[in-house]
Amino acid sequence: MHDDRTLVEARLKRVLTERIRPAVYPESVPLEVGVWHAPGEPVPVAEGLAAPREPIAVGTPWGPPWGTSWFTVSGTVPMEWTGKIVEAVLDLGFNPDKTGFQCEGLVYRPDGTPVKSLNPRQQWVRIAGPAEGGEEVRLHIEAASNPVILDYHPFLPTQLGDKETAGTEPLYRLARMDLAVFDKTVWDLVMDLEVLGELMQELPVEGARRWEILRAIERALDAVDLQNVNGTAAAARAELTGVLAAPAVPSAHRISAVGHAHIDSAWLWPLRETVRKVARTASNMTTLLEEDPDFVFAMSQAQQWAWLKEHRPEVWAKVVKAVATGRFVPAGGMWVESDTNMPGSEAMARQFVHGKRFFIDEFGVDNEEVWLPDTFGFAAGLPQIIKAAGSKRLLTQKISWSQTNTFPHHTFLWEGIDGTRIFTHFPPIDTYNASLRGGELAHAARNFKDKGVARHSLAPTGHGDGGGGTTREMVARAARVRDLEGSPTVTWETPAEFFDKAEAEYPNPPVWVGELYLELHRATLTSQAKTKQGNRRSEALLREAELWAATAAVRAGAGYPYEALDRLWKTVLLHQFHDILPGSSIAWVHREARRTYELVTEELNGIIGTAQRALAGEPSGGTLVFNGAPHARHGVPAGGAAPESPAAAVRAAPRPEGGFVLDDGLLKVEIDGRGLVVSAYDLRAGRETVAPGRAACLPQLHPDFPNKWDAWDVDEFYRNTVTDLTAADDVRLDGVTVVVERSFGVSSMVQRLTLAEGRLEIDTEVDWHETEKFLKLAFPLDVRADRYASESQYGHAFRPTHTNTSWEAAKFEACNHRFVHLEEPGWGVAMVTDSTYGHDVTRDVDEHGTTTTLRVSLLRAPRFPDPETDQGAHRFRHALVPGAEIGDAVREGHFINQPERRVPGSAPVEPLVTVDDDAVVVTAVKLADDGSGDVVVRFHESRGGRVRATLRPGFPVAEVVTTDLLERPTAEPERPGDGIAVALRPFELVTLRMKRA
Ligand SMILES: [Zn+2]
Repeated sequence: MHDDRTLVEARLKRVLTERIRPAVYPESVPLEVGVWHAPGEPVPVAEGLAAPREPIAVGTPWGPPWGTSWFTVSGTVPMEWTGKIVEAVLDLGFNPDKTGFQCEGLVYRPDGTPVKSLNPRQQWVRIAGPAEGGEEVRLHIEAASNPVILDYHPFLPTQLGDKETAGTEPLYRLARMDLAVFDKTVWDLVMDLEVLGELMQELPVEGARRWEILRAIERALDAVDLQNVNGTAAAARAELTGVLAAPAVPSAHRISAVGHAHIDSAWLWPLRETVRKVARTASNMTTLLEEDPDFVFAMSQAQQWAWLKEHRPEVWAKVVKAVATGRFVPAGGMWVESDTNMPGSEAMARQFVHGKRFFIDEFGVDNEEVWLPDTFGFAAGLPQIIKAAGSKRLLTQKISWSQTNTFPHHTFLWEGIDGTRIFTHFPPIDTYNASLRGGELAHAARNFKDKGVARHSLAPTGHGDGGGGTTREMVARAARVRDLEGSPTVTWETPAEFFDKAEAEYPNPPVWVGELYLELHRATLTSQAKTKQGNRRSEALLREAELWAATAAVRAGAGYPYEALDRLWKTVLLHQFHDILPGSSIAWVHREARRTYELVTEELNGIIGTAQRALAGEPSGGTLVFNGAPHARHGVPAGGAAPESPAAAVRAAPRPEGGFVLDDGLLKVEIDGRGLVVSAYDLRAGRETVAPGRAACLPQLHPDFPNKWDAWDVDEFYRNTVTDLTAADDVRLDGVTVVVERSFGVSSMVQRLTLAEGRLEIDTEVDWHETEKFLKLAFPLDVRADRYASESQYGHAFRPTHTNTSWEAAKFEACNHRFVHLEEPGWGVAMVTDSTYGHDVTRDVDEHGTTTTLRVSLLRAPRFPDPETDQGAHRFRHALVPGAEIGDAVREGHFINQPERRVPGSAPVEPLVTVDDDAVVVTAVKLADDGSGDVVVRFHESRGGRVRATLRPGFPVAEVVTTDLLERPTAEPERPGDGIAVALRPFELVTLRMKRA
């Protein structure tokens, strides 16, 4: 037979595009349209519905950036449409090539009931089917004219990302406002032809199945009368029933489709717009669930559910009803889909506490699945937290974005720093916005790396971020590929149903140990420095506020600020969302975040001050030092207060060759005439810290213009060009502090270097006005280390200092929390920081041997999506700690983040709990969230070893019980004797709940 394959394929494409798809709406009449342009920020729904309308014609421009317009459409169903399916087709001026990220609408009935959303790929509203002629139609649309930020030429700087700079020119043009007849048979024919045509493209040309489909499509096209598509569609469909009925082969890959809309909690729009995006998508999905009995939709991020409950009760009511059917599923168990690299121990834990608690309280749903499709890498501390929260499974897709290495598994056990293993799945479909097209399904089956031992994968299906979620077309495709020869099978399922099957079929999956490093978006550890500082500071203040408020409650009978702490935690957790804390949102988001962190700081300082005053009693002339850190400091116990004691003296003197020498008896530091640290001599160990012939505390400036994703990415070639900022405008002594002033480019820097208890404290102020530059602070260290430690949640993770393989080479920028530590046997160095996260570590070998250079990342200046990223004044605090063992790194890391506070008073305050071994770090002391007055203490082994210790409550305890992170008992309560014996494995995390006697 002659090969006419390409001819038939081209025919299918043209006939579908030019004749069959246009016949879905064979008849239409225009609707009358009125509009009210809300003058400022969005108004409540009732106000928008009631506002007076003025007429507006199709074709009229509307919508300044970030504006809201309330449209009302009205008309009458023509008498001759009786019995037909009628829909409103409402095109606000969409660009259908983009699935969201532009104008959007939510449609309401006249009584204010939400109906569904309007998006580029979902422009219809069902009016009636079958219709009655003469029926009056009236709908309201709350339309948001959100600007397109990520345009066709992406990553160009734009002023549209903040209402204050975006201008007022209308962005959209009203395109179509019609009432139309919907021909369901033609629409089904479109679906049949799309599914078969796409499947055919994926099948081997040598196989019979491909040709059977081709011939059936040809017969169907023959049956279509191009001048009467609507009259002949049924006959065309009949030609396809045979090939659509052929069942899947037994070895077919099995895809669990989960309806989903990945809605970033803020990104290229402000937080307030996310509230509306969620309302639109949730309305859309409750309507789709009513129309299709098989469809399942999963919505993650408890915060987004809470927004609905608070701001959109009419949508919330529909969602609550849909959840009761079991097909609108609360997914995951976190407050938001947060970053997981940067959130500290307690914050990471609280993401689960508040996320899970919301779903439990509202719906009785306690998920075992963690849903993080889009987060930019996964810290090795996370598995233990997932388990401690009562979950055991993780889904993410993001690692497929890695630029260098291909991850070897799609289903595996992920092992964290403490040995906890979590059953993890990466959907091989490689997208969290699947649409179930033939190409995607075939890719998932081909790509799945666990073939032969496993058969199931998951497909998060739907348009996110304002695309409205799953479409009826996706549902129609799923129905056709449920059991179809040549295709993977597709079944709508909940995440839990998928994981049940995946776990059952794969009892011994492979294991991946350590962090899931994303080989992309590495600059998210540095961009938007103030957002990152706000997070770090807030985390430290929340710890202190809970500690002192709990202590004041138990010791002084003070009230415990349950409501404020709950609200402030949720605010901080929200800002850990994976486009806020990483610094990848528009200017508006980060401007608001800076303000929010200021308010959080103010309120938490208020709570701390009130509690400390209650504890300090009446001022009597002295000064009490409160130590909120988990280790004793200057004679003040951890979590207690004591009168101030004098600090050790530091001597400062001029250095004969220029510069100054600082000496505190433990450390002797030489700062040269350039203001650089040329020696840091550990007097106890008799050992130099700085690499021979090098200088530390050296600012280095790189050009930084990545190929894509400016705020997200730093590309490896940035290292090829570097300027050492060695020129100083002034190096002077101020008391026992060396002050170094530099200017470079259009920026300037002032550093203050001083000693305290054997550490070199570095206070860096930068007035930053560079464009597309990366500022680092380099510390070449005379240490030979094959690996180094950086703090993660409840412990630390190691990374190699070499680049033997592409896996190590790709980690050229990595994350630390409070410390980075590197050592040789017997001697090490720590770098601790109060606010930075990004760093790199490299090794050099010269005639002196191997040295290791640690560089902390201070500032970047990308221009997309915020064209003014990081411009202005910044302040960072770091300390270099020569001679530090890992336990010293842990302790100093807490100290720099948890400064002492001085309060008038003289009576010491005993800690609520003490532990007799510094390896045990208490991360939280608080009252139980249930208001019972129980004291909750969370602690972990911090050095990677084993420890036996005794924890002593400083108050009468009736009984003590271990709990999960949600403070739910996991064992039988016991009566404590003289202290509570604890035996911890490396990095083991424990939560105790103590009932007060
Ligand atoms: Zn995202």
